[in-house]
Amino acid sequence: MEFFDIAETWSRKEIEEAQLARLRITVERCMRSPFYAERLAKAKVTPDSIKSLDDLKRIPLTTKQDLRDQYPFGLVTVPPKDLVRLHASSGTTGSPVAVVHTQNDLNAWADLMARSLHCAGVRNTDVFQNIAGYGLFTGGLGIHAGAERLGCLTIPSGTGNTARQIKFLQDFNVTAIHIIPSYALYLAGKIEEAGLDPRRLPIRKAIIGAEPHSEEIRKKIEAVLDIDAYNSYGLSEMNGPGVAFECTCKNGMHLWEDAYILEILNPDTLEPVKEGEVGEMVMTTLTRVGMPILRYRVRDLTSVFTDPCPCGRAHKRIDRIQGRSDDMFIVKGCNIYPMQIESVLMSYPEVEKNYLITLETAADNDVIRVQVEINDQMFVEDMRALTTLQKTMARKMADEILVTPKIEFVQRNTLPTSDGKAVRVVDKRNKV
Ligand code: AMP
Ligand code: ZN
Repeated sequence: MEFFDIAETWSRKEIEEAQLARLRITVERCMRSPFYAERLAKAKVTPDSIKSLDDLKRIPLTTKQDLRDQYPFGLVTVPPKDLVRLHASSGTTGSPVAVVHTQNDLNAWADLMARSLHCAGVRNTDVFQNIAGYGLFTGGLGIHAGAERLGCLTIPSGTGNTARQIKFLQDFNVTAIHIIPSYALYLAGKIEEAGLDPRRLPIRKAIIGAEPHSEEIRKKIEAVLDIDAYNSYGLSEMNGPGVAFECTCKNGMHLWEDAYILEILNPDTLEPVKEGEVGEMVMTTLTRVGMPILRYRVRDLTSVFTDPCPCGRAHKRIDRIQGRSDDMFIVKGCNIYPMQIESVLMSYPEVEKNYLITLETAADNDVIRVQVEINDQMFVEDMRALTTLQKTMARKMADEILVTPKIEFVQRNTLPTSDGKAVRVVDKRNKV
């Protein structure tokens, strides 16, 4: 097995030794920001008092609200002249937070990103089209730097203008792409509409990430484009992409533990969950200089795989993200995540690429309306076939989420799409 970075070959012991040493350095560095200086003093945490990784739990959690309160430069630990780049989270929920980087931070991030792409089987012989927003969104510049560092011919095609994206894919013999999963399916549809067979394009790999998606969506993307698709996880607060990535075994994402410490906590008790159980991710940066962050409450929900990966990397693997704890909605007392609905929908071959969940109030009751695109063949079937499908789908969903949704079939390419992160849930309920 060929590795890009020496840290990929580290044993658990080597990883943990590096984490401890780097945690001490990070705590020392954090004390240069007034915010952390005060927090750490209150908690009586000094670099010397960190004797083992277990001492991590003595450090207070950092929340998104803390980052908003410190917006924009409250957590910076270097002189302003050393800062060279600012990114901001896409703000899928609430107002943005700013993250600033030194040149060293950007170099380290590009290294992590190159390692990630390499781990998913991308090579310097690939022509790499980065179909992601170049701007404050980290999926543009972040992935771009990694692809260049790896040595790919990198095409910063950005988002939108689907016809031009398709032309580039053909003209430049693109073999690897980075794309948001919902846009990948839209793009495949547009390739078909242009009279081309998406399976015959030279693309062999797609890096998909930035938004929650089910295994069924991955399989759909792989089938329509005849490629391998790899899950890529990251968030602006931890740089952006390059935090956790699937290797070619496709059995969870390796989280780069030489650069981050991951904890999975029970969202209610804030105690660590048992190995393998689902909880909220909490992450600490270990190599960041400009704006290190300690124990950040990410709110994404996942679990850690406990079995070793056949690829040989000892870095922990996380399961695909089930959603954010703040994406959850409650209907009739049941806690529901959009991914539960997506998994059921996408298990039906009749279902096309897009869906939308709308929460409404009808006769003082909450109603879940699920609009889903289905293929053209179904629309030429008689009404009975459609009604049966609707009923079985609603029943299967009720088994999963304990509430029976109202399912509406619509024709393909009729629901709203976005070339950024997809909006899957619209809450139109009357607020009391
Ligand atoms: P941002 O920092 O604005 O790019 O948003 C980061 C958030 O996007 C994460 O906290 C996750 O909620 C979501 N996200 C990123 N990558 C993935 C992925 N591979 N699977 C599921 N959710 C993801
Ligand atoms: Zn692996």
